[in-house]
Amino acid sequence: MCYNSGYLDYNNKAVAELLEYEIAGFHVDMLDYGFGPPYGCWCGNCESLFSKQYNMEMPRPEKPSWDEGWEKILEFRANSNTRFSQSLHSFVRSRRPKVSVDFNYHGYPPFSWIEGELPVKHAMNGDFVTCEGLPPPRRRVRDDGNVSFCLSCCGNGRVQADT
Ligand SMILES: [Zn+2]
Repeated sequence: MCYNSGYLDYNNKAVAELLEYEIAGFHVDMLDYGFGPPYGCWCGNCESLFSKQYNMEMPRPEKPSWDEGWEKILEFRANSNTRFSQSLHSFVRSRRPKVSVDFNYHGYPPFSWIEGELPVKHAMNGDFVTCEGLPPPRRRVRDDGNVSFCLSCCGNGRVQADT
């Protein structure tokens, strides 16, 4: 999914329709902006936005690298996620101020750059952060750090955890 495409408008139309029903909130699951290669989007919208933000063409590395171009790509990915999430949250709140919005979060231990998220910053995009764990045997203990981490980055205690 491209955060910088018309998907937000499409999504908002679906959300607007759902808001006509008595619902308590939206759980937005798996915001995926490239969980696998090539780990991002190089569509015309993204390239144009990237070019305006960084005053350079969007690099097209064959694989992740340790250079300034890749660092900008990761920053662009994270900021695109933030913009999308905050826009969606604002849209819902402008229509129904008491309806909650949360985003299933992937930026918790064991951390990985692949999801392209900024753990603390992105935890604040919704009304609370969702922390999902998998049951044993995939995970040996119920809280392998995910819940503890989410609680620490959301100082106001806005955490929903499930296993
Ligand atoms: Zn794109």
